Amino acid sequence: MKKALAVLLIIFIVSSITAYYQTAPQRTAGPDIERLVYNISAGLEKTRGLRFRGLPAVAVISREEAVKRWGPTRQNPQALWLRERLYKMTLLLPANYSLRASEERQTAGWVALVSGNLLYIIRENFYQDPQQAYGVIAHELTHVLQSQNFEVNYPREYDGYLAVRSLVEGDATLSAVLYCRDRGLPVERLSEYTVDPLTNLNFFPYIAGYDFVSYLYRKGGWSLVDEAYSREPSSQKVVMFPELYLKGWKPLSVRANLPEGFTGIYTDRLGAFYVAQVAERAGRSGKEFARAWVGDNATIAVNGTVMLLLWNVTFEDRDTAERFRDVLTKLAVGDDFARFEVSVEGNSTVLVSMRDEE
Ligand SMILES: [Zn+2]
Repeated sequence: MKKALAVLLIIFIVSSITAYYQTAPQRTAGPDIERLVYNISAGLEKTRGLRFRGLPAVAVISREEAVKRWGPTRQNPQALWLRERLYKMTLLLPANYSLRASEERQTAGWVALVSGNLLYIIRENFYQDPQQAYGVIAHELTHVLQSQNFEVNYPREYDGYLAVRSLVEGDATLSAVLYCRDRGLPVERLSEYTVDPLTNLNFFPYIAGYDFVSYLYRKGGWSLVDEAYSREPSSQKVVMFPELYLKGWKPLSVRANLPEGFTGIYTDRLGAFYVAQVAERAGRSGKEFARAWVGDNATIAVNGTVMLLLWNVTFEDRDTAERFRDVLTKLAVGDDFARFEVSVEGNSTVLVSMRDEE
C-alpha cells in the first residue's frame, strides 16, 4: 500500500516544449477543480511569498493519455536506446532490465503536472485519493509560481540536471507541505527510496530535494531559496550535503581518454547519487561513496560495431576508489550485457565496458 502510494505521489513538471504540439483530446475541468485552484492560489501566495501573474487552465486526462503523451514512446527512440546502454554499461541496471516498461509504469503513476499554461490532472490517480487534492494542487501551483518568477536553467549533464530538478521539486514539495500544515489539511510526500535504482534517481529530486530546500529555508527563509534560482546547485552532492552548497563546493572536471580508433558519441557527469545507487545495488551503503565522490565522467564511444563505455569515478581518497572497484567487480559477475574491466588509477575507479552491436 505504502509503495503504491509513493508511486502515485510522483508529480512531475514537464518542460513547456512538449505542451504545444500535443493535440490529443482533453477534457477541461469542471468548476470544482477550477475553484479549488483559485482558492489554493491565494493562500499559496502567502505561504510561498511569491505572486501569481495568472493561473493555469485545468485539463483532466486519463492515465492512458498521460502515458501516450509523456511515456517512453514519446521520446526519441535513439535517446532511449543510448540511455539503456549507459545505465547497463555503468552497472546501474542489470542486463535484463526493461527501461521502457519501467518508464511506462512511472508515467502511469503521475497524479498531476504543469506543462506550459496547463495544469493536467490524471483522472484515475487524482480521484483515487481526494484527501490529497490540496497538497497536489499546491505543489503544481508552486511550479507555476517558479516559472513566473524565476528563470530555471537545466544543465546538459545529468548530475547538474538532477540537482536543479531537486531545487524545483524540493521547493514545490516544501511549499505544499507548509501550505497544508498551516491549514490543518492532510498532505503526503515521497519520503522513502525503493530497491529499484532508476526509480530512486527519479525520486531523488522529491526526497533529497525536499531536505535540501528545507535546509535552505531553515537557514535563511524563502529569500535564501529564491536566491538559489540565480545560484543553482550544480551537483547531486551539494543537494545531498547542503552545507557544501552554501560553501560553494563544485565537482572536479574529469576527462576520459579514449583509445585510438574510437569516436565519442556521448559524454556526461552522472553524479554522486548515481554512484551511490550503483553501490547500493551491490549491498553497500551508498552515502559513504557519495560523500567521498569529487567528480566523474562517463563517455560512450564507437569503433565499427564495437561500443565502448569509459567511466572514471574520482573520490577524495584511494581507499574509496578501491572499495568502488570492488562494488563494480561484484556487479559485473554474471552480467553478459558487456565485457567489464575495472581498475584503480590514483583516487579514481575506472570502468571499461565493451559490447558488440550487431
Ligand atoms: Zn513537481
